Amino acid sequence: MAVFKPENVEDFYEIGEVLGSGHFGQVRQVRERTSGKFWAGKFLKIRKVACSRLGLDRSSVEREVEILQAVQHPNIVALKDVFESRAEVVLILELVSGGELFDFIAEKENLLETEAIEFMKQILEGLRFIHCKNIAHFDLKPENIMLSDKVSKPPNIKLIDFGLAHMFHPGEEYKSTSGTPQYIAPEVISCQPLSTAADMWSIGVITYILLSGLSPFQGDTDEETLGNVIAMKYEFNEHYFSLTSPMAKDFIQKLLMKNPEDRMTAEECLLHPWIKMSYNMVSVCNRLVNLRLLCKDTSSPDPLQRQCESDVEDTESKPASLLRRRLSSSS
Ligand code: ATP
Repeated sequence: MAVFKPENVEDFYEIGEVLGSGHFGQVRQVRERTSGKFWAGKFLKIRKVACSRLGLDRSSVEREVEILQAVQHPNIVALKDVFESRAEVVLILELVSGGELFDFIAEKENLLETEAIEFMKQILEGLRFIHCKNIAHFDLKPENIMLSDKVSKPPNIKLIDFGLAHMFHPGEEYKSTSGTPQYIAPEVISCQPLSTAADMWSIGVITYILLSGLSPFQGDTDEETLGNVIAMKYEFNEHYFSLTSPMAKDFIQKLLMKNPEDRMTAEECLLHPWIKMSYNMVSVCNRLVNLRLLCKDTSSPDPLQRQCESDVEDTESKPASLLRRRLSSSS
């Protein structure tokens, strides 16, 4: 059981700028008074009256804390401490200063498929770890995938926000309809019992967005989006996917499966040829493509080229602004 310290958080930490906000409070940069080290303080308002709509149940915060304590991994935000006052709980978290994954991509001219693979690998490593512990995140989306800092190469991924996460107990049937329409799996919408496979659906959606800048199921309204998910209404629009490798599309298709049991697990994803494709192999492919372009011989594309074409980017069809616009109109 997690220890919620009754002391005043401000006796130990100087409260700084707001880093972000969620439904139940703010995340602020905080500075530890003894060491001078920076952390992120997640300030969560606690519901005082059971029937009130303001604030969170203390039990939900306890669950988030318990899960964070159980998932110590390089690709998951670390929890340092928890303080509790009458009206709020403050989680002291590792400061993740590189911003959201999608801001990083939006700032770049283009995203190479090799870079997408690197990001996905780290996300999957974190997921494999939590799924092995029978924990599902249930709120995977670009806003909850951050970069540890702006300098590491390749950037280091951190999964955040375990507010909807759930730890499964043996034989337990768990249902929930929470989540963000664009990313939730069909079984969430149809109120079926859930498993870690619901996260794998979200991974399929995130990969689709990473490679195209488009959100596969997004409609004009949440209802329309949910309807598209239930109807499995998505396609690889040729304009945005013409240069995406068949392996990447296969990876997405094996995640966007209606039956949760048919979806790849995180473990299986890490063994998928697209994820295993090495930098060396990609750069050899790129050289071949470049050579072919130089020779102006485009009449008979070979399979190897098709697999790696996406590394010769189509910046015209995947501008950062498109990525942002599409995502910002979502949640
Ligand atoms: P929601 O209501 O959307 O589920 P939440 O209240 O659970 O949100 P988080 O998603 O954990 O809060 O955090 C809100 C925002 O604060 C994040 O999108 C991110 O921008 C920022 N943030 C969260 N944790 C950290 C961290 N450890 N370091 C830096 N920024 C963070």
